[in-house]
This record gives sequence, C-alpha cells and structure tokens, in this order.
Amino acid sequence: MIFNEVKNFVNGEFRPGSSNKIHHVISPLDGKELTTFTESTYEDLEEIIYFAQTAQREWQKVTLKERVQVLYKYKQLLEENKDELTEIIYRENGKIHSEAKAEIDKAIELTEFACALPQFVNGENMEVSRGVYCSSTRNPIGIVASIVPFNFPSMVPHWTIVNAIALGNAFILKPSEAVPISSQYIAKLLKEAGLPDGLFNVINGTQSTVENLCDHPGIKAITFVGSTKVAKIVYQRASHNLKQVLALGGAKNHIILLPDAHPDMASSNIVASMSGCAGQRCMAAATLIAVGNCDTILNKLIGDAQKIQCGTSLGAVISKAAKKRIEGYITEAEQQGAKIILDGRNTVVPGKENGFYVGPTIIDNATADMRVAKEEIFGPVLTIIRVNTIDEALAIENANPYGNACSVFTQSGGLANYVTENASAGMCGVNIGVPVPREPFGFGGWNESRFGSGDITGKSSIVFFTKEKKTTTKWNPEAGNNWMS
Ligand code: NAD
Repeated sequence: MIFNEVKNFVNGEFRPGSSNKIHHVISPLDGKELTTFTESTYEDLEEIIYFAQTAQREWQKVTLKERVQVLYKYKQLLEENKDELTEIIYRENGKIHSEAKAEIDKAIELTEFACALPQFVNGENMEVSRGVYCSSTRNPIGIVASIVPFNFPSMVPHWTIVNAIALGNAFILKPSEAVPISSQYIAKLLKEAGLPDGLFNVINGTQSTVENLCDHPGIKAITFVGSTKVAKIVYQRASHNLKQVLALGGAKNHIILLPDAHPDMASSNIVASMSGCAGQRCMAAATLIAVGNCDTILNKLIGDAQKIQCGTSLGAVISKAAKKRIEGYITEAEQQGAKIILDGRNTVVPGKENGFYVGPTIIDNATADMRVAKEEIFGPVLTIIRVNTIDEALAIENANPYGNACSVFTQSGGLANYVTENASAGMCGVNIGVPVPREPFGFGGWNESRFGSGDITGKSSIVFFTKEKKTTTKWNPEAGNNWMS
C-alpha cells in the first residue's frame, strides 16, 4: 500500500497545508516513512471556515431525518471498505489487524447511533399556563472542531464527526500528526456518501494548528482527546476565547482484584485490557491492586500474559520515543525495588527488527508512590500493588489524579457495588477489563481525565453539539394574562 501526501480537506477538495514545515509520518511497524504532510497556517484555517460557514447555513435548514440519510450511506461505505480502512490503521498506528478492524466496527456502531438521533432529539412541548405553550428545540451550534490523539486514528474521530454533522454542524478534524492517513479516507467516503462540500474538513498540523483552532472566532465548540497536559492547555485557551469546550485527558486505570474472582474470567479480561492496542488505550488496565491473597489468579494471569506474541497478538507502540519512555518506567521500578515478573524491554520481533515493540510487562510488589503505579505509562505494562483491605485499595484509587476507569473483579455483588460506588472514576466495570460504555451511554471520565461537562458520545453529545431554543406561544385571545404572561 502506497500512501499519497496527506492533505487538508477543504470544501470537498484535498489541498496541502501552505506553510513550509514538512512533517514525516513514520510507521511503527518498521520505522519507515509512510508519507508526509505540510503544517497548516491560519490562512488555511480561514479558508476552511469560509466554506464551512456557507455550507453550514444551508445544512441547518435540512431536517435531522434527512441529514442522517447521508450517514446511512456512509455506514454502508465503511462496511464495504472495512479491509482497506483496517490496513491503513495497521500501517500508520502499528496495532494488530483485529484491533484495527475493531476500530472500524466501532466507527460503524457510532454511525448507527448518529443515524438513530432522530429518535432521541425530539424536543419538548408543555402547556405552562392555560392556553400558553412552551416548546424546546435543539439547534446546531455552527462550526465545531475536534482535535484527536494517535491511539485510535479512526474510532476517536468518529466519536464526534457523525453526531456533530447529523446535528446540523460543520466539522473540522485535526488528526494526530502521527496518524493522519485515516482522515483522508474518512473525507473521501463522506463525500462519496453525498455529504455536501464544506461540512467535513480536515486541517493537518501540530501545536500551532491547534492554537489557531482555539483562537479562531468562527469555531463555536471544540472537543479535544489526548494527554492531560494538552487537554488543560486546549481547555483553557479555547474557553478563554469563549468557546464551548470538552477536553478528555489521560488516564491511570485501576483494577481492584478480590480473591473470590473467577480466575479464568479475571485473568483473560485483565490481560486483554493491559495489552490490547499495546496498552495505548485510555481505558487500559494499568495498576492492579490485589486485595488479600490473590496468588492463584495472579499466577494464571502471568501465564496468560506470557503467551502473548509480540508482532502477532501484540502490536507496536507508536514511536521510538514511546518505546524508550515505557522501558524507562520499567527500569526505574526495578531500581526502586519492584519485581519485574514479565519483562518486555528490548523486545525484537523477527522480521520486524526496526519496529517499535515492547513486550507484555508485569511489575509486582510495587508501592503506591512509585511512578509506575501512579503515572500514565501508555504501554503494555501492568503494575501490581498488594494490600490487605478493599478500603486500602480504594484509597489508592481515589488518590490518583486521573479518573477514567476502575474495574473490580469478584463474584460478590455486594463487594462489587461497594467498589463501584466508592471509586473515583467516570467509567466503572464489574468483571470487565475495558469498561467502555456503549451508545446511548456516553464516554467520559472524571477528575484530570476530563475537563468540561458531559460526555463526548451517546446522548450527552446531543447537548454538546446543539444549543437549545425555548419558544413560548399563545394563540387563543381568551387565554388571558396571568402573573407570568
Ligand atoms: P497528545 O496530547 O500528545 O496529542 C493530542 C493532540 O494534541 C494531537 O492532535 C496533537 O497534535 C495535539 N498537541 C500535542 N501537543 C500540543 C500542544 N502543546 N499544544 C496544542 N496541541 C498539541 O496525545 P497523544 O500522545 O496523541 O495521545 C495519547 C494520550 O491521549 C494519552 O494520554 C491517552 O490517555 C489520551 N487519550 C485519552 C482518551 C480519553 O477518552 N480520555 C482517549 C484516547 C486517548
């Protein structure tokens, strides 16, 4: 597969960014260059905004039921092009084929939800005084922009693209500079599905392009998904410019393992969670807190993790720098006295010697103050802390600044409830390694994993991508006036 130069998508056409700064897109599979793109300028954004405003003014006049017809067609195109889209994700992100395919399956599910929006967005109408009716409708915001991370080149953009467009907005996507290729195919397929030009746009770039998006007055709302460090920057800058902002940040997810958990179920779910997408998921199991004697389950878990084959059942991490960072965390934990039970450092995959691989890693006997136990590593590394009580486990979980996910593994309903009620996380799981809420439930964490209110997907997105209008009506002269009218 040969990739053309990655370009911006403006008013239905591909055009290169117009600065003189060229970026190189490297495949994590072999370290080779896949393609290049040029950083965009403020003028490039102005052009997108001009066409997007014109297109959006017409799009908002189209009914919701009609707008989603384009998305029915788009969903069909995603299904027809699944193999090619999967291959692109594999090449640019380095995850294994089944994980790349799962991204497209999820993009399809997100599009199905967007197609169902007419069933959810039905407004309200009530007789508030005799003969006086108050109704509410949901109206598009205008132009919205989404800034996305590298770890899901297709799924995370689909969290917002399809709902925002269905709800009558024009959309600008700023892909991650590490994985900008999928966006080109999203643009192509949306056009093929019949989406009018100017409604879906792509702007490529890095920090300066994100700053331009935060500053441009033509953009009314911004979603961001990425690290907490940048989430804070984007949230503050775009809010300062009076935009509506939802910024999802990083994570350090806890698994609370109780001795009565089902060994096979706990082991398979936890191993899949810590190693899936090479641990580069904001929902990945990162710190396992074993309460009491969980040795039987932990031995099973170590055995299952040992069976993972790098390059076959475990993909690459995104860059050489990421590999170095992850390995540095493991070395530091070892120096601090933690026990490296399974060591993924210096992994070389035969035939993919230049790929950026880190093998599955399990670190035991860590303490809560070690960096491996509390910071986001974003690699296939599980850190185990051993405690005596559930309350000790919850205290460690609660003290962590992030708050995306927390799962408990047990066969006791009462203990599971105790953990989910007391965990400080927006997405909790019981015997589930990756507790992602599926539509119509919304995706969003707590604490430093999310800035802004509401979730990014599901029913919450209706609130985020629209503004509500209330209209109060009286037709009957005999209705009279009361103290409120
Ligand atoms: P990142 O924060 O480095 O980059 C995200 C986006 O921000 C990219 O498009 C990038 O170009 C831009 N960016 C980077 N530095 C910037 C700066 N200084 N100013 C303005 N923009 C900047 O994140 P990443 O490395 O691409 O992705 C990994 C992170 O994303 C992890 O922390 C992971 O937990 C998080 N993530 C969170 C969720 C969630 O739902 N909470 C989902 C996926 C990923």
